[in-house]
Amino acid sequence: MIEPHYNTVIIGAGPAGLIAGVEAYNPDHSIIILEKMHKTGLKLRISGKGRCNITNEESMQSFLNRFGKKGRFLKYAFSQFFNHDLLKYINDLGVPTKLERGGRYFCKSDRATDIVVAFEKKLNGLKIPIAMKTQVTGLQLNAGGQYVLQLTQGDHKSQVMADQVCVCSGGLGYPATGSTGDGYRMAKSFDHTIIDTAPSLVPVLTAGDTAKRVMGVSLRNVSLSIWDEGKKITEMFGEMMFTRKGITGPIILTLSETLVTMLDSRKEVQIKIDLKPALDHKKLDQRLLREIANNSKQNFRSLLKTLIPLKMIDLFVDLTEIDPSTKLHQVSGDQRKRLRMLLKEFPMQVIGHDSYDRAIVTSGGVSLKEIDPTTMESKLASKLYFAGEVIDVNGETGGYNLTSSWSTGFLAGRSMRNNEFVR
Ligand SMILES: Cc1cc2nc3c(=O)[nH]c(=O)nc-3n(C[C@H](O)[C@H](O)[C@H](O)COP(=O)(O)OP(=O)(O)OC[C@H]3O[C@@H](n4cnc5c(N)ncnc54)[C@H](O)[C@@H]3O)c2cc1C
Repeated sequence: MIEPHYNTVIIGAGPAGLIAGVEAYNPDHSIIILEKMHKTGLKLRISGKGRCNITNEESMQSFLNRFGKKGRFLKYAFSQFFNHDLLKYINDLGVPTKLERGGRYFCKSDRATDIVVAFEKKLNGLKIPIAMKTQVTGLQLNAGGQYVLQLTQGDHKSQVMADQVCVCSGGLGYPATGSTGDGYRMAKSFDHTIIDTAPSLVPVLTAGDTAKRVMGVSLRNVSLSIWDEGKKITEMFGEMMFTRKGITGPIILTLSETLVTMLDSRKEVQIKIDLKPALDHKKLDQRLLREIANNSKQNFRSLLKTLIPLKMIDLFVDLTEIDPSTKLHQVSGDQRKRLRMLLKEFPMQVIGHDSYDRAIVTSGGVSLKEIDPTTMESKLASKLYFAGEVIDVNGETGGYNLTSSWSTGFLAGRSMRNNEFVR
């Protein structure tokens, strides 16, 4: 049962909304969280492949760098609530955590759901209700300076008043989890600027059938570069994977924002994969010469076995146009060069990207210029707050995005907690 008026209303029960609810707790305030889906934290439950990559061990500065130029906005929020504060917070909620490779922290149980359940329990203990299947369809300010929220619960329509509101409605990625950009519309009704949104951390699609032929192959320790008219734009080292229609994996997801932006103005983007980044062209050629000399009676296919994953061999045979039964002592200098070029500069054309349906985060959102970074309050509307992915920050993969949502949600909650209302 929703009361006609609350001091504090939080829109959305994702990571930002859940923590904002706990932190807004003030025994003198009436508080409610409104969530349009049938369960809280649907996206959080599937995060990190259901294991939840909570945060990262990195130092503050390199953490902020993971958000590009927008990282500066998060500096204050992180100074109040950063990775180890978050871990302690989650541990105190009764969810143990563990550190894995790449400085990434996960739930010890490998169950993201444990965090959601722990937050629900905490909110329940604080007697802060979460109204489920309750969608906020409109947000205005009335003449008396109170917020009026239009609600839809199935066929039933109603409204609720609030002294302060925090919009934690997420972005546009994985809309089946409830994030469908409603918060942008609410922000717009208060004249907030919405920086153009785009799918980010999203798999990309590549030309031809190359990816399909090696679908499922995962490459570790490779370097991927993006090219524009013969000029290298950027390069990243790490792990990637071929899919039926293209490529994905940590380096692709991270570079996807650049690729998506470039695809706005061109039909395709040239990328090159360096499968042997530890060796420059000269050293790789020396290695090939050594392999050929030491195994001269073996054939080209057996040489490939020592260089690339088995599933890529037929593709390399076709692309080098070298008969796989060719004895190694018969491999010509030109053929060796073709092989070396493929190993160092395996070319692919990115021709598109997956939609929001598969985007881990959304780039763009409520303009940072219009939000106070020390409180998360709107600079355009008093006592209106924004936290989480709805604002114009998005980071790389590795626990950065959840930390940003939790940290901004924490700050917004604390700011709301300290406000006083005339009774
Ligand atoms: C598959 C996947 C895996 C991910 N894994 C990781 C990871 O391991 N680590 C990491 O750091 N990040 C990860 N992310 C990103 C991270 O989950 C998001 O950045 C984070 O959930 C954003 O939190 P949020 O609270 O701002 O928004 P959301 O989690 O999107 O929550 C918003 C909530 O608001 C509700 N809502 C929306 N509109 C309304 C409305 N009008 N009325 C009422 N309620 C509304 C939604 O139903 C939803 O519950 C992953 C994302 C995806 C899609």
